[in-house]
Amino acid sequence: MAKAPVTLRDGRGQAVVLPWLDALFERLVEARFAQTLAHALLLSGPAGVGKDALAHALADAWLCEAEGVQASERPCGRCRGCGLTAVGNHPDLHRLVPAEGKATISVDQIRELSAELALKPHAGGSRVALITPAEGMTVSAQNSLLKTLEEPPSGAVLVLITHQLDALAPTIRSRCQQLSVAGPDPAQAQAWLADQGVEPTASAEALQLARQSPLAALQLVEDGFAEQASSLAEALGQIALGRAEPINVAGGWEKLDMQRILAWWQGALHAIAREGLASGAQGAEEGPETATSYRVLAAQGARWVAPSDLFEFADRLAEATLTLRGQANPRLLLEGLLIDWARVTRPARTRRKPT
Ligand SMILES: [Zn+2]
Repeated sequence: MAKAPVTLRDGRGQAVVLPWLDALFERLVEARFAQTLAHALLLSGPAGVGKDALAHALADAWLCEAEGVQASERPCGRCRGCGLTAVGNHPDLHRLVPAEGKATISVDQIRELSAELALKPHAGGSRVALITPAEGMTVSAQNSLLKTLEEPPSGAVLVLITHQLDALAPTIRSRCQQLSVAGPDPAQAQAWLADQGVEPTASAEALQLARQSPLAALQLVEDGFAEQASSLAEALGQIALGRAEPINVAGGWEKLDMQRILAWWQGALHAIAREGLASGAQGAEEGPETATSYRVLAAQGARWVAPSDLFEFADRLAEATLTLRGQANPRLLLEGLLIDWARVTRPARTRRKPT
């Protein structure tokens, strides 16, 4: 159990090992048993690199009660503490997430946690509280947590997990030991996805879509989003070439996850910008006319969209992403974006006409 400690459950309930987190895991288990670890940690890093899995593995190791066992052998998998964490029923492990149907962690939840931590520990003396996503705490919840962060009960470790560090109050950040959690390098990520049974071409595309986050890439593959992305790219290409109407395309996209579409679209714009820089948009060769994948879209898009329009459109997308979190009408939002896309890709159509 101590080997390859950081795992998560996949859709079939199998344990999936996240080897790029092993070194950080070992360092933090070691630090806890050497009593050099802060009592409040802030794990930050991109979404989809395994921060939650790391935090759970740490909790398992810290709550291991085995006597005379080296830090590197924890969790032992045999003691009472390990038995309780294994069945997800350890009374000294608190996991704070937004209540069902809510987007935020409330001040009442934080008060309840603080009260719970003020009591005596149930088992071996250690207590662990995981707060995820930490940026989900409301402002008053964050304020309420300050006191516990300043004077934590003995034996307690609080782990805050976030991929939006900026959304946390500076007073919270300054009271925690901050650790950034990184994903694997691209080759390691490809190899890991291959271990999960993902084809190399699909994994390259999914990693690109997921901005190199391996867990997010795996999720995309499992959700079939790689195929969806391919048809999105094709539709954007058709609009750019004047062969499809934005309004009709919007109708076909309505049922898809809008947040994902917008994130994918942002990624596509980044790829277009990189491609434009790499090839020099002016002198690029003419390629095939229909974009059938994200990559082809990027290669084509560098010719369709002027760099200044690209940045302006990226701003529009970012704005739309924020609007979508409110009560926006997704259909209208999508139509507006696609009409705008037709406008910024107009050079693609005018260039085809003889002058
Ligand atoms: Zn144990």
